Amino acid sequence: MRALEGVIHGIEYFQSPNFNERPKDIAIDLIVIHAISLPPKNYDTELIKDLFLNTLEAGNDSYLRSINHLKVSSHFLITRAGQLIQFVPIHLRAWHAGISSFKGREECNDFSIGIELEGCDEEEFAASQYETLIELVNFLKQEYLIIEDNIVGHSSIAPGRKTDPGPHFKWNLLKSST
Ligand SMILES: [Zn+2]
Repeated sequence: MRALEGVIHGIEYFQSPNFNERPKDIAIDLIVIHAISLPPKNYDTELIKDLFLNTLEAGNDSYLRSINHLKVSSHFLITRAGQLIQFVPIHLRAWHAGISSFKGREECNDFSIGIELEGCDEEEFAASQYETLIELVNFLKQEYLIIEDNIVGHSSIAPGRKTDPGPHFKWNLLKSST
C-alpha cells in the first residue's frame, strides 16, 4: 500500500466536500474506528457514499431524513466485501469524530484518521473487512508512527454519545495483527 498526496494508490476515491485543514503543525497520531450502515443494519454502500458527498436523498425514510442534513465524512470506508474507499486525503481533516476527547485532548478530528467499517452494533463484521482494515492500519501506523494505544473506537472518544464500532468488533484480532 502506498499513498500519493494523501490518497491511497489504486483504490476508489471520491472527494468529500466535508473536510478542512488540520491545525498547523499538528501530528496525526490517532486512528478512530467507526461502524456505519444506512439505515442501521442495512448494507447499502451507495447511501454511505451519498452521505459523505452531501448527495443523500432521504425519500420517506425517517432515519435518513434525520441525518441527511449532516455534513460528515471519513477518510476511509471499508465495505462489507472488504473494498476500501477513500473520501478525504489523509493529511486533511475529515469530519468523523464530532464532540470527542482522547487522553484529555478535545477535537479528535484535528489529529486523527477516521476509518468507517460498513456494519452495525448487532452483527459481526466480515472477515474480508478485517483483512482490509489490518492492511490499512499497518500502513498508517508505519507512515504516521501511530502507537498501538492510539487506535481506538469512536465509542471510547465519545462515550455515552457513540457506541460504534460496537460489541462485535474484534479488537484482539486487530491488535494482534497490527
Ligand atoms: Zn462513528
